[in-house]
Amino acid sequence: MRVLITGGAGFIGSHLTDRLLSEGHRVVVVDNLVTGDLNNIAVHRGNARFEFIHHDVSNHIHVPGALDWVLHFASPASPIDYLQLPIQTMKVGALGTHNALGLARARGARFMIASTSEVYGDPLVHPQPESYWGNVNPTGPRSVYDEAKRFAEALTMAYHREHGLDIRILRIFNTYGPRNRINDGRVVPTFINQALRGEPLTVFGEGAQTRSFQYVDDLVEGVRRLMESDCRVPVNIGNPVELTILEFARLILKLTGSASRIEYRPLPEDDPKTRRPDITRARDVLGWAPRVAVEDGLRRTIEWYREQMDGA
Ligand code: NAD
Ligand code: UDP
Repeated sequence: MRVLITGGAGFIGSHLTDRLLSEGHRVVVVDNLVTGDLNNIAVHRGNARFEFIHHDVSNHIHVPGALDWVLHFASPASPIDYLQLPIQTMKVGALGTHNALGLARARGARFMIASTSEVYGDPLVHPQPESYWGNVNPTGPRSVYDEAKRFAEALTMAYHREHGLDIRILRIFNTYGPRNRINDGRVVPTFINQALRGEPLTVFGEGAQTRSFQYVDDLVEGVRRLMESDCRVPVNIGNPVELTILEFARLILKLTGSASRIEYRPLPEDDPKTRRPDITRARDVLGWAPRVAVEDGLRRTIEWYREQMDGA
């Protein structure tokens, strides 16, 4: 196959690129590097099955040749990034998704939108099944991301209904692993790097809010299975093991052997209080469940950040 991955120079997109190339497919990455890094895909330079196009997908996407799949992963994804880039985030979720859908339609390609657990907002149903419509503040600071992804899902369904486009909707829950930028503000890289540097771990609020963290390899396996399935409704892919942020900080201190203190900071506006995927659909339809235990995934991730710090 020849597969287009928008956002393929980012954290998740680069792992997907690795996986598809390792299976013998051809991969075209389109990325404007706003939050991505060429180092994430540097290993593939010179590979005849790999192409990189430096481009902002909120503008018309020109990729000559046949395409079997279009995987639309381009978007700032960390709260710090999308709060700094509110308009770009809305544009890539809306115009970028429109362009990627149009390209998929023109080539008769199967299309995937990388959506998010943020479509559930600050959820009033727990854990979150795909049937839950969510609780999103449409004008709050996080709305630029949440509403862009909700629009992207709606537009994807419109292309399916009006044009018969073959679509997949992937709702990704908090994912971590190597290549997640050290300073992108998400809790996993932030706590690990604070712990490794002996700095205080910055817990927001009282740390009573919960998240459920999955290792990136599990997500990539979920993407593969969803693309190969005939499932055209949203599917949650995440690890249901749920921790409070304070428990998570303590786990990072244990796994790094760090003597860092915990320091409490104000809770950001609209920070969701709970989040845990109901993965019944992924189990039933895809035969998928996470395989990497949280402590194992975190050990691998900590090792990677140590190597980065030693290298620097
Ligand atoms: P990331 O910031 O590492 O990757 C995003 C990539 O998209 C970057 O390479 C960036 O340069 C690129 N990009 C952004 N805007 C672009 C544009 N207009 N044109 C071209 N490229 C653009 O983030 P990530 O964690 O790898 O997230 C990838 C996708 O997965 C995003 O769509 C995100 O919303 C989704 N997602 C991620 C998580 C998670 O926990 N990591 C959770 C839910 C959803
Ligand atoms: N968080 C924290 N300290 C930090 C960064 C994040 O306590 O330095 C909290 C944040 O308030 C949220 C959780 O960790 O409750 C997960 O944040 P992240 O930015 O990773 O992703 P989110 O799930 O909020 O999109």
